Amino acid sequence: MPEPGDTVLARLEALRGGDLPTHGGRTLAYVYDSGLAEADRVGREALASFGSTNGLDPTAFPSLAAMERDLVAFARPLFHAPEGAVGTVTSGGTESILLAVQTARDARSDVESPVMVAPSTVHGAFHKAAHYFGVELVTVDVDPDTMRADPGAMADAMDAAGERLVLVAVSAPSYAHGVVDPVAVVAADAAGRGVRCHVDACIGGWVLPWMAHPDPWDFVVPGVTSLSADLHKYAYTPKGVSLLLYRDPALRRPQFFASADWPGYTMLNATMQSTRSGGPLAAAWAVVAHIGADGYRALVATTVDATRVLADAVRGTEHLRLAAEPDASLLAVACDDALDVFTLSDEMGERGWFVQPQMAFRGLPATLHLTVCAATAGGVDDFVVALRESVDAAVAAGPVTVDPDLRAAAAALDPSTLDDAAFDGLLALAGLGGSVDPASAGGSTSAGGTVSVPKRMAPVNALLDVAPPRLREALLIAFLDRLTR
Ligand SMILES: *Cc1c(COP(=O)(O)O)cnc(C)c1O
Repeated sequence: MPEPGDTVLARLEALRGGDLPTHGGRTLAYVYDSGLAEADRVGREALASFGSTNGLDPTAFPSLAAMERDLVAFARPLFHAPEGAVGTVTSGGTESILLAVQTARDARSDVESPVMVAPSTVHGAFHKAAHYFGVELVTVDVDPDTMRADPGAMADAMDAAGERLVLVAVSAPSYAHGVVDPVAVVAADAAGRGVRCHVDACIGGWVLPWMAHPDPWDFVVPGVTSLSADLHKYAYTPKGVSLLLYRDPALRRPQFFASADWPGYTMLNATMQSTRSGGPLAAAWAVVAHIGADGYRALVATTVDATRVLADAVRGTEHLRLAAEPDASLLAVACDDALDVFTLSDEMGERGWFVQPQMAFRGLPATLHLTVCAATAGGVDDFVVALRESVDAAVAAGPVTVDPDLRAAAAALDPSTLDDAAFDGLLALAGLGGSVDPASAGGSTSAGGTVSVPKRMAPVNALLDVAPPRLREALLIAFLDRLTR
C-alpha cells in the first residue's frame, strides 16, 4: 500500500524538527531570511512549479534561458559590468568558483602546471577547485591587523609563479572576516601580468551594491575579469543559485563543454551539471523580480544597521573583540583567554542562537562567525542579552583545555598512515563516537563505525582546533563517511 501523501509530508515536517531554523533570524550562518513572507511564498511556488523542467537543453525549455538572461541583465549594472559582459547561472558559489578556475586553466592550455594566487582568507571552494582541476593554489598571508589581502605579498607570489600563473582571486568580502580585499591594486597587478582576476563576491554580491563602500571592488576595476555572486545568500532566494559573470564572451568561452563522442544527444553544457532543475533559477528570477532593487536597498540598510549595532555590542563587551572591522554584513568575534569561542558558541546555542565557530588558522585567532541578515535585525537586542549572558557563563566555565599529551599526539599523527579502526578510535576520543540516534536518522545504523553529534560541541571543537589542518580534514572526512553509511 502506498503511504498517503499527507502522512509522508507530515513525516517530512517531523524530520525537519531536528534542523536549525531557516527562518526567524536566529541562525547566523547557512541560511538567509529576508523576513518578507511574500518573497518566501513567491520563491517557494516558483521552485515547485519549475522543479521538473530541465536546463539540459535551453532550446527545449526557452523559459529557462530567458530567465537566465534576465538575471544577468539585472546583475550587470549592479557590478558595473560593461555592456558586453556575459554570465551563467550556476548551482551555488562553489560551482561558480570551480567554473571560474576551470575556465582560467583551460584558457591557458599552453601552461603545463598552472598556478593561482589568492589571499589565505579565500574561500575553501578555491582549494576544492585546485584539488579537482590540478591547479596549484598559492595562498598569501593577509595583513593580520585588517585581515585584508596584502597586495605587495600577492605581487611577490605572482612573480614567483611567473609564466605558470593563470588566475588571481580576491574576496568582496571574505567569508571568515567580512572584509573586502584591496581589489583595485591586486587586479591591476594581475592585469599587468596579462592574467585573469576573479572577485569572489559570493556573499557580498547582493549587499555591497546597495551600501557605501569606499573602495572599488567590482568590474569598475579594469583588471577584474570575472565575478561570482550567490543569489541563494543575500538575494534571499531558495538554495541552488549563483551568478558567474565575465567581462566579455571570450573570457567565458572555455567554460562551455560539448561532447559528440557518444551515440546519444550531443552533450552541450554551460555548467558542471547536465540535467539541472529549472526550479532554483525560476525561484531566483521570481524573488529578484518581486523584491527588486529598491527592496534590496531597504533590506541592505536594515542589515547593515543591525551589523553595526552588533559590532558595537561586541566592542562594548569585556573579553570580546572584533577580529576585523566589518565591511559589510559579516562579523568575526574573537575573545581573550578568560573564555573560548567554542564554549561561547554552545552557550549561544543553549539560548536559541546559532553562531558558527571558526578555528584558528596560521596565526589568526579562532572566532565566531556571524552572518547578519535582514530578519536578524528585529532581534538584535535579544541577541546582545544572550551574548552577554553567554560570555558570563563561558568565563565561569573557563576555557576548554586539551590535554597536552593529546595535543602532542595529534601534532605527531600522520593521517595518511591511519586505517579505519584508527579513525574509529580517534573519533571516539574526539567525542564524536557512538551510534546515530535512530529517531533523528529515520533508519537503522549500519555495521562498522558509527558517529553521533554531541549537544555541547566545545570539547570536540577545541580538539579539532589543535589538530593540524591535514588531520582535522581526515577526521572530519572519516566522520562524514560514518554519518552517511
Ligand atoms: C558561500 C561562499 C562561497 C561558496 O558558496 P556555496 O554557495 O556555499 O557553494 C564562496 N565564497 C564565499 C565568500 C562565500 O561566502
